[in-house]
Amino acid sequence: MTLPEPIHHRQRSFRLEAVVLRHNDWGEADRLIGLYTLEMGKLRALAKGVRKLRSRKAGHLEPFTRVNLLLARGRDLPLITQADTLEAYLPLREDLAGATYASYVVELLDRFTYEEGENRALFRLLVDTLARLCQDQDRDLVVRYYEIRLLDLVGFRPQLFQCVSCGAEIRPEDQYFSASLGGALCPRCGSHTEGAQPISLNALKHLRHFQRSNFQEATRARLNPALNRELENVVQHYMTYLLERGLNTPAFLRRLRKENPAS
Ligand SMILES: [Zn+2]
Repeated sequence: MTLPEPIHHRQRSFRLEAVVLRHNDWGEADRLIGLYTLEMGKLRALAKGVRKLRSRKAGHLEPFTRVNLLLARGRDLPLITQADTLEAYLPLREDLAGATYASYVVELLDRFTYEEGENRALFRLLVDTLARLCQDQDRDLVVRYYEIRLLDLVGFRPQLFQCVSCGAEIRPEDQYFSASLGGALCPRCGSHTEGAQPISLNALKHLRHFQRSNFQEATRARLNPALNRELENVVQHYMTYLLERGLNTPAFLRRLRKENPAS
C-alpha cells in the first residue's frame, strides 16, 4: 500500500545508484543495508519491513547487486522506499566460486572505506570488477588487478619503483616487500629489515604492470597458479597489516595524503 505523500516529503527523497555491500537484520522486520553509492560513496540505509514475506524490495537488496534506490531522509538513517535492480550479476550467483570472488570484492571495498563522500573512480572499479568476473576472464587476474587498483584509490598505493628504505631504484632482480614501510625494498635493505618478505622479480613486475595499466593492458599478463599465489600472498599480507593496524581510519588517511601528496 502506498499512500500519497505530502509535497514536502517528496522533496526530501532522493535517488541513488548503489552496489549492496552487505545487510544486517535490524529489529523485528527491518534490515540495515550497507551500500556503496555512485553519488555519495559509502552509506548505510534502513529497509523497513524487508524481512516480511512478499516484500518487493527484498530481492533487490542482496549483496553485490547494483540497484537504483529511492530514499527518504529518516530520523537517523535514510530509508529505502524503492529498490530496482540494475544488474544482478547472475553468473556470479550460479556457482559457489563466483559468489566467493564477488563477496571478496565487496568485502574488501567495505573494509577499506568509510563514510567520507563520493569516490566515483572507486564505484566504477567496483562495478567494472563485478562485470569482469561475469565475463570470460581469468577471475584470479581480475581480482589481483582489483586489489592493486583499490589500494591506489583508497590511498595505500604501494611504492614499487624505489626502495622504501634507501630510495635506490628497484633493479631487475629478486627483492623484498615490507608491509609496514608500504613497498619494495632493495636486497641490501630487505635482508636486514624486520618483517620484510622476499618477492620474486616476476611477481614484482606484475604488481608494477597492474599499477600502471588499464584492465585491457593488464589482461596481457598470464598468471600461472604459483605466480597467482605469490601475488595473493604479498598483497594480502600488506592489506592485513593495514586493516589490523586500524590504518583505514579517516585521520590516518588524511595524514598519509598530506605526507605523500603525489601518491
Ligand atoms: Zn634499499
